[in-house]
Amino acid sequence: MNIKKYMIMLLSVFIFTALTACAENSSEYRILTPDAAVFSAENNIYKNGAVYLSPTQQVYFFDFESMQGVPLCNKPDCTHKLDNCLSNTCGNTPIIYNDYIFFFESENEIVDSEDKKSQSCRVYSKCKRASIDTGEIQTFAEFEGVDPTACYRYVINDKILYLIGAYSAYQWNDGTWSYSSNGGKQYLCSIDLESGKFNNYGLVNDSPYAENNIVIEGGSRNSVSDQVIISGIYNKKIYMYYQCVENQQDLIDVLHDSQGDLENDVPWIYENKCFDIETKEITVSDLPKAEDINENTYLYWNDTKDTYALLNEKETEIIVSGFEKIWRPHIINGKIWNFSEKTHCFDIDSEALYEMINNKYTANDTQILAYLKGKYILQYSSNNSQVFESVTESDLLGDTNGGKNEDIFM
Ligand SMILES: [Zn+2]
Repeated sequence: MNIKKYMIMLLSVFIFTALTACAENSSEYRILTPDAAVFSAENNIYKNGAVYLSPTQQVYFFDFESMQGVPLCNKPDCTHKLDNCLSNTCGNTPIIYNDYIFFFESENEIVDSEDKKSQSCRVYSKCKRASIDTGEIQTFAEFEGVDPTACYRYVINDKILYLIGAYSAYQWNDGTWSYSSNGGKQYLCSIDLESGKFNNYGLVNDSPYAENNIVIEGGSRNSVSDQVIISGIYNKKIYMYYQCVENQQDLIDVLHDSQGDLENDVPWIYENKCFDIETKEITVSDLPKAEDINENTYLYWNDTKDTYALLNEKETEIIVSGFEKIWRPHIINGKIWNFSEKTHCFDIDSEALYEMINNKYTANDTQILAYLKGKYILQYSSNNSQVFESVTESDLLGDTNGGKNEDIFM
């Protein structure tokens, strides 16, 4: 086989951003990273603030103490308006540790075998870090074989950043290539944020059905719900899941049906896996996939009982009675929160269910970010900008009467 023409489609978009530091006099660092936490573009929360995207797609840091947002950049003389401001160059999910902003880049190239009879696609990736204070950017770690730039959610545990790296290059019959930064074979990897040491712990989506998520019809290659998602850390294990379908035709039928609902009409199989931080082993978990993991509690949907259920740190199951199925339940301060139309809150200790008294937040896409010094910090969008508010529990729930079960919905 001669060298054939090839084409690489770069599907990933890299946006690199940096953090503007906020004063935190009591600490060595401006931005305080939790010892263990999960980060995503929508939920990038630190002990003293939150990272978010401004309407102009600049990365901002919202300081919980001052309740002010500033561009994620403290470079001397930077106006924070130009492309070279860190807030414009460090990606939409920058991870901050010891006042460095960590972000990823990846390149790929088609390499001929020595006998020129075959080709492979090699992937080269970099973890970069930018100093918030000086703006200096360095290559912090380099690794091959996986592309980390489309990772949806990250976990930090004790200075180690865990992420999903993908290999999704595909060679067509005519020799051309398609490349995607997400989907395909996906591996759990880690980077030590102090030494730069990289590890690849192995393939996560190893089901024989995982390839069925990639539908090839004619000249199109369609990758459907093809991402390994990290859920979080619970009892020293990192949980992650993916979905696939046993019979690809079931997926194709829904794709071809204009009324088809990809989420509900395809008989998806969810495989939930966990990585033991101590033994470094990835195994299949007995638990259903997590809907949220926070404060070392594990929230999931109990299919048999048709309700949410939660495992506390002693792995005791608590049935979350009356809490409706929603897109993004979140555990904060020992309570499960829901700000969608049917607003309510479940207290894990007392198993009480509360209705929220303030419907101001239900019309907005409200997220609950943190509980600090007796107040909750909420974020929602209004008039195309991000609004942050600090509220007390009684502002949200009224008088909770010491947490006794009011059985509001039962
Ligand atoms: Zn700047």
